[in-house]
Amino acid sequence: MSEKINDINEHSNFIHKIIDEDLKNEKHNGKVHTRFPPEPNGYLHIGHAKAICLNFGTAKKYNGLCNLRFDDTNPIKEEVEYVEAIKRDIKWLGFDWDRLFFASDYFEQLYDYAVKLIKLGKAFVCDLDVEEMRKYRGTLVEKGKDSPFRNRSIEENLMLFEKMKNGEFEKGKRVLRAKIDMKSPNLNMRDPVLYRILHATHDRTRDKWCIYPMYDYTHPISDAIEGITHSLCSLEFEDHRPFYDWVLDTLEHKNRPQQIEFARLNITNTVLSKRKLLALLEQGLVDGWDDPRMPTISALRRRGYTPKSIRDFCDIVGVAKNNSIVDIAMLEYCVREDLDRNAKRGMAVLKPLRVVIENYPEDKEEFLVAENHPKNPKMGTREMPFSKVIYIEQDDFLEDPPKKFFRLAPGREVRLKHAYFIECVDVIKDEQTGQIIELRCTYDPETKSGSGFNKRKVKGTLHWVSEKHALKAEVRLYGHMLVNESESNTDDFKNRINQHSVKKLSNCFVEQSFIDAERGSSFQFLRHGYFCVDTIDSTKEKPVFNRTVSLRDTWAKVSKTNK
Ligand code: ATP
Ligand code: MG
Repeated sequence: MSEKINDINEHSNFIHKIIDEDLKNEKHNGKVHTRFPPEPNGYLHIGHAKAICLNFGTAKKYNGLCNLRFDDTNPIKEEVEYVEAIKRDIKWLGFDWDRLFFASDYFEQLYDYAVKLIKLGKAFVCDLDVEEMRKYRGTLVEKGKDSPFRNRSIEENLMLFEKMKNGEFEKGKRVLRAKIDMKSPNLNMRDPVLYRILHATHDRTRDKWCIYPMYDYTHPISDAIEGITHSLCSLEFEDHRPFYDWVLDTLEHKNRPQQIEFARLNITNTVLSKRKLLALLEQGLVDGWDDPRMPTISALRRRGYTPKSIRDFCDIVGVAKNNSIVDIAMLEYCVREDLDRNAKRGMAVLKPLRVVIENYPEDKEEFLVAENHPKNPKMGTREMPFSKVIYIEQDDFLEDPPKKFFRLAPGREVRLKHAYFIECVDVIKDEQTGQIIELRCTYDPETKSGSGFNKRKVKGTLHWVSEKHALKAEVRLYGHMLVNESESNTDDFKNRINQHSVKKLSNCFVEQSFIDAERGSSFQFLRHGYFCVDTIDSTKEKPVFNRTVSLRDTWAKVSKTNK
C-alpha cells in the first residue's frame, strides 16, 4: 500500500519536477532548503499536515534541510500555548526541524531593511487612515491613486519612521508603505503596507517594538536570511509573488529564494481554517482544540488517528496546482488501513442485552483463547472469560426477525465468537413496558471454538462479554462536523454544523483484557470499528473509548462509483 501511495505522489508532485530541474541547472548552488512557517494563532489542522509533509518530505527526499519558523508578527493573536502545540504536533507527525526560528528574531534586521528601502526612495510613511487608503487603492477594474504623502522627502520619511518606532504615534496613525505602482493591475503591488503601529506586548520581544512588519514583507526577507531555496506556500499567495520578488530584488539580497505555490487541502464536511475553528471554540460548539470532532492534529490524535495514516493521506492527496476538495472518506480510509494492520482486536458491547445461559453451571468460568489479530499470529492471544451470564448487543436480537436476519431470535442458534453456539429459548420482558430485558439461552458444550465441531452450521457470529468479568465503559461515537457535504463552501459553516456530531454511550461493557489498555492505545472492537482510549477523560475505574472510524469502507464505495 505505502509503496503504491508514494508512487502516485511522485508522479503528481509538480514541485519535485521543478526542483529536479533546478538541481540540473545548479540553481541555488544545488541545494534544497525548505521551511514550514505557521503563525502561532491556533492549533495546526489537517491542512497544515499537508504543508508539513510537503516541506519536510521534500527536504528529506533531496537530502536538504527544513526549518520551522514561527511567523509571529501579530502579537495580538499569537500565544505561547500555540507555539508549544505546533511543535508537539509536528514531532508527533514524525518530522523534526533542522533549525527553529521566529520571524521576531529578525525584527532588527527587518527594521534596517525598511530604513534601506526608505533611503533608496522605495518606501514612504503614509498618514492616510484605513478607510482612505482603501479608497486610494482602487479595485480590480479601477486603477489606484497615489497617496498625497507619497512624495515625502527621504529625510522626512526617515524621521517619521523613527518616530513610529519610538512610540510617538497612536495605533493606526501612520504606516510605512512600499513605493511601487498604484496603477499596477496587481493590487498587491499598489504601494503595500510594510509596517503598522501596534502598541502590544509581544511574547518574545515584549515591549521593545510598537511597530510590526507585515507578513508579505517579513516573509521574503526571513526566507532569504535563512537561505531558503524553495519557499512553498498555498495558492492564495500566487498574486503576492511579484511583491515577494520585488522586496528581494530591491534590497539586492544575496540569497534568492523562489516562491512556489501549491493547492490548499480542502475536505468535505470539514472546516479548515484556524480562524473559523477558533470561532467554533469560542461559541462553545466544541470543547477544545483537541475535541475529537475537530480537524486539528491534536484532535485527530485524541480520536485515534495515527501519524502514518495522516502522512499516507497527504501522499494520496498529492500536490497539485489547482484547488480541489477531497472526500473525508479518504482520510477515514487511510486510518482504517493502518489500524486494520496494527490494532489488537477485542470485544465490546455498546448497547447491552443480558443473556442467561441456563444450562451453564452457576459457578463455572472458563478462559477461552482469542487471537489478538486474525491475520497476524505474532500479535499473540488473550484470554476471554466466559460464564453463565453474558451481554450481547440489543441489535443482535429480534423477536420476530425478517428472513435475512442471521442473528439471534427465539428458537435460533448463533455462534459466540471464540466461544460456543447458543440458542434462544425464552424472552423475558418488563411487565409494564413490554421491553425485552433479558434472554434465556442454552449452549452446546460440543461447539466450543477451536474444537473442530462441524456437525451443523450457523450463519451468525456475535460478539459478547461476560457480565461477571466485563468492565463498564463509556464509548463516544463521532460524526462529521458539517452536514450537507455537497456544499464545498465553508464560509457559511455556522448553518451547517452537525448538531449530532457526538453520541456518548455511558452504559457499555468491554472485555476484561482492556483493564490494562493505556490511554491513547487503539483497538478494533469486533463488528464495530476502531476505537482508542481517550487521553483526557479515561480512567481505570471508568474507561472512555473514542471511535476513530467505523469498519465500513465508504471510500472504496465512493471510488468505485466514481470509476
Ligand atoms: P489558517 O487559515 O488555517 O489559519 P493559514 O494559512 O493562515 O491557515 P499558517 O499558520 O499561515 O495558516 O500556515 C502555515 C503554512 O501551512 C502555510 O504555508 C500555509 O500555506 C499552509 N497551510 C495552511 N492551511 C493549509 C491547507 N488547508 N492546505 C495546505 N496548506 C495549508
Ligand atoms: Mg496565515
